[in-house]
Amino acid sequence: MSYLDNQASAQDDAISSEPELPRLGVFGGTFDPPHIGHLILAQIACDTLNLERVLFVPAAQPPHKQDQGVTPPLHRFAMLQRAIQGNPYFEVSRIDMDRQGPHYTSDMLSLVRAQNRGYELFFLLGADSLSELMTWRAPEWIIAQAILAVWRRPNVPINLEALEARLPGVRERVVLIDAPLIEISATSLRESLRRGHSIRYQVPDAVLEYIQRQRLYR
Ligand code: ATP
Repeated sequence: MSYLDNQASAQDDAISSEPELPRLGVFGGTFDPPHIGHLILAQIACDTLNLERVLFVPAAQPPHKQDQGVTPPLHRFAMLQRAIQGNPYFEVSRIDMDRQGPHYTSDMLSLVRAQNRGYELFFLLGADSLSELMTWRAPEWIIAQAILAVWRRPNVPINLEALEARLPGVRERVVLIDAPLIEISATSLRESLRRGHSIRYQVPDAVLEYIQRQRLYR
């Protein structure tokens, strides 16, 4: 069986595990700032996986970004609200911001699950995040709580074989989302803003207005 066949059958297994349950997408991230990459990919995941909603969950203080200056959660929440406005399938959740740290994804998923009983959870993430999964707290708990809906990211390989060797069963809990490669990252946007370059069209206008009004990323 080829790599792609393997992918397809893993995808079928994961998708058909509980077909009768409504599906909720959970999109965790720093969103510093939210950009069109996040929105495009969430929309494609929503459509291809038939998600009832996508919950954007801005991380309060990501454990793996402790030492970097992260914009205060209230600003990131406000930017996300502006980014998703008008999309009835998207919602922003304060679930991570409003709780005591440390803010592990595994705990966040447990909370989302407790608040959304009867839903099958799909945790949306890019290939770079998938490759870091084993550095996160309780990866086995994460894949027990949610199916991982993964999309590709430029220059980041997806090696499910290697991951399976370290986290048995993960292959059956991953679905790959077929989406265009998008070469935008929040890091590059912050750098552009610091250099005084425009990020117009890379973030929704309402997000850009907020950034300018609040004088963020200077
Ligand atoms: P930063 O550059 O600050 O690390 P980011 O642009 O990667 O930020 P995050 O908020 O960290 O954005 O991302 C949330 C999730 O979205 C992660 O799983 C990340 O892999 C994914 N993601 C963000 N941008 C892209 C992109 N352009 N292509 C694919 N996945 C992306």
